[in-house]
Amino acid sequence: MKAKKVIKCKIIALTDRKRRLLEAEYNGLQVYLQTGKDSGLCKTNMRQAKRFYKKILVTHEYPLTIRKDLIRFQTNDCKLSKFWFSIPVGGRTRLWLPVQPHASIPEGATLCESKVTRGRDGVFWAHLVVEKEIPCHTDFTNILAVDLGERLPATTVLYANGAFKEPRFYGREVRGIRRHYAWLRKRLGEKKALNTIRKIGQTEHRKVNDACHKISHTIVEQASRERAVIVMGDLKGIRDGTKRRGRRMNRIISNMPYYKLTQQIMYKAAWLGVPVHQIPERNTSKTCHRCGSTDTTRLKQPIFECKDCGLIYNADLNAAKNIAERFLDQAVKERGILAVPVTPHERSVP
Ligand SMILES: [Zn+2]
Repeated sequence: MKAKKVIKCKIIALTDRKRRLLEAEYNGLQVYLQTGKDSGLCKTNMRQAKRFYKKILVTHEYPLTIRKDLIRFQTNDCKLSKFWFSIPVGGRTRLWLPVQPHASIPEGATLCESKVTRGRDGVFWAHLVVEKEIPCHTDFTNILAVDLGERLPATTVLYANGAFKEPRFYGREVRGIRRHYAWLRKRLGEKKALNTIRKIGQTEHRKVNDACHKISHTIVEQASRERAVIVMGDLKGIRDGTKRRGRRMNRIISNMPYYKLTQQIMYKAAWLGVPVHQIPERNTSKTCHRCGSTDTTRLKQPIFECKDCGLIYNADLNAAKNIAERFLDQAVKERGILAVPVTPHERSVP
């Protein structure tokens, strides 16, 4: 299957001339987006901008989006930098920029549409998107079941050799971060400090994002190491449910860690060739994993009780085990399902 990855490259050691040209292009884009005035922007960069940004916020800076056929990337043994990235600017100028990638560029990968962005400190970054054909493991026979939740971002359990093991609970800190910032926003709202509210919103976003990246990375690494397919609940159910919840609730949900985690797990797994399956999530948190009864209740938030068999258990772990069981049932019905992922990548699997 085709897998994509973003490689962040810091643009370094700019000469005055290059900095001037790059800044002119970048500032020119902002002016164009805000006012529609063309100050000598590269025409393809301009068309790209028109294609992407439908709604322009005055407070935002937008990255340059460079079409894939216009990007060049080269390595050479130059003293200044080993890696060079090139984009078109202005009239017909091609600008070669020395860069420092945060990870190595995978061999055999092809370049995709990428972005150039400017940090608040004035440093430019190239977000290089690379794509590579990664064979999907068809020999994985263990299962790593992942329950993504609102209360706790992720709970996983490994099913190997007929037994459950290694329950793991992720992201308690995410809830703390969200709660802290909700409290802060409320306090600032009372004082009508709108600018500050916006700023702390960005900080919260970044912190939650970082935490989600760590969680998804650990989960995918474990699956790869344990030769396990990843099985998650299908978000569709949640998305359908949001229709009745109104716009405000919808916005909150799309910012929820489990929404981010689903996407991050998918693309990180694709890169390692780990198959990902999604199964309907319905009742996985209400069903008792020991006896299958749905006559259950919550004693306290994380504690689950089955009224039929008397099981008292961690609710998130119970849901994760149900996800694994449901997948196993399905696998027994359709033999060989373990080998074929049902993720969006399935179309590219021969
Ligand atoms: Zn039970």
